[in-house]
Amino acid sequence: MDGKQILVTRSSMPDFDEYCKEIEGLWDSRWLTNSGVKYKQLECELKKFLSVENVSLYTNGHLALENIISAMQLSGEVITTPFTFASTTNAIVRSGLTPVFCDINKDDYTIDVNKIEALITPKTSAIIPVHVYGNICDYKKIDEIAKRHKLAVIYDAAHAFGVKCNGISAANIGDAAMFSFHATKVYNTIEGGAVCYKDGRLSSRLESIKNFGLQQDGDISTVGGNAKMNEFQAAMGICNLRHVKDEIAKREKVYLRYKALLGDVGGIKFNHIQDGVISNYAYMPIVFYDYKYNRDTVFEKLKENGIIARKYFSPTTNSFKYIENAGIKRGQTPVADTVSQSVLCLPMYADLPLDEVDRICGIILK
Ligand SMILES: *Cc1c(COP(=O)(O)O)cnc(C)c1O
Repeated sequence: MDGKQILVTRSSMPDFDEYCKEIEGLWDSRWLTNSGVKYKQLECELKKFLSVENVSLYTNGHLALENIISAMQLSGEVITTPFTFASTTNAIVRSGLTPVFCDINKDDYTIDVNKIEALITPKTSAIIPVHVYGNICDYKKIDEIAKRHKLAVIYDAAHAFGVKCNGISAANIGDAAMFSFHATKVYNTIEGGAVCYKDGRLSSRLESIKNFGLQQDGDISTVGGNAKMNEFQAAMGICNLRHVKDEIAKREKVYLRYKALLGDVGGIKFNHIQDGVISNYAYMPIVFYDYKYNRDTVFEKLKENGIIARKYFSPTTNSFKYIENAGIKRGQTPVADTVSQSVLCLPMYADLPLDEVDRICGIILK
């Protein structure tokens, strides 16, 4: 070990001078938040980049999700998966809704569309699926089910920034899609997030919920919180958006190196890119099924060598203590349980040197 650790991710940043130039004007305007010029510019650029009609920016992805749930006035039960980051399930529960856990499929770890309908009850108001690792859910099937049962569909697209499926931007899949611009994601605004949505009539409610519920006339008809993206975040977003295509291209090189070394090793399931999908190479998950070592052994071995991989997602969200304490049903999710115990996300970021990928794979294969 050379003393320098390799972490699972490393934030993309513009050159220092580029960011300084971007924020310089703020010392004149003294307008630091509340829909400033940087905010408006980023909103405009993201509309173009994501090919969407409506986008709203937030101080983080989690609050973006809570805010769209609130704006769409969901009620009762929401069908979702437990193979996700805590945020998805927490947002549902914090909104006073009951998560109903559907299992995932073993191929791409997204919601198993064949198990959704059995979970629908008269109380169901929505489906909140997750595009896990940037793998796109079977959205056509989900759409069909949602239409048949008159359910809203909000995607947790935190992992899917810049992903396209059959020529469609992930931002345009579902009634709404939430993105996270957290420092650890493919595209970051330090902390940040966005909601893209189809129904333009939601705009005024979303804008007001983000800002304490305040309306144009100064009155408050909805209880809102504070979830606004500030100008420094937006400026970081403007800079990082200039480079995101290059960053994704660099990630692809890293991915291809991993694929060459681990793509068809017996007992290891590699995350192959789905047909019709243009990936963002957000994560490098591998699942150990019948491999000579189990996930935890490989995790420890990598750690001894200064490589910090991540058991992501582990545990599943339906095994959280609060779920049990609140009397929420865990559901039958055997595939999610198994994957969660067997998956390891290897280091993946634009500047990860390819010889480090060789070293990581060497340790796994030894
Ligand atoms: C990162 C992430 C979130 C939360 O986003 P923040 O911007 O960190 O609040 C939600 N869901 C998933 C799947 C995530 O990976």
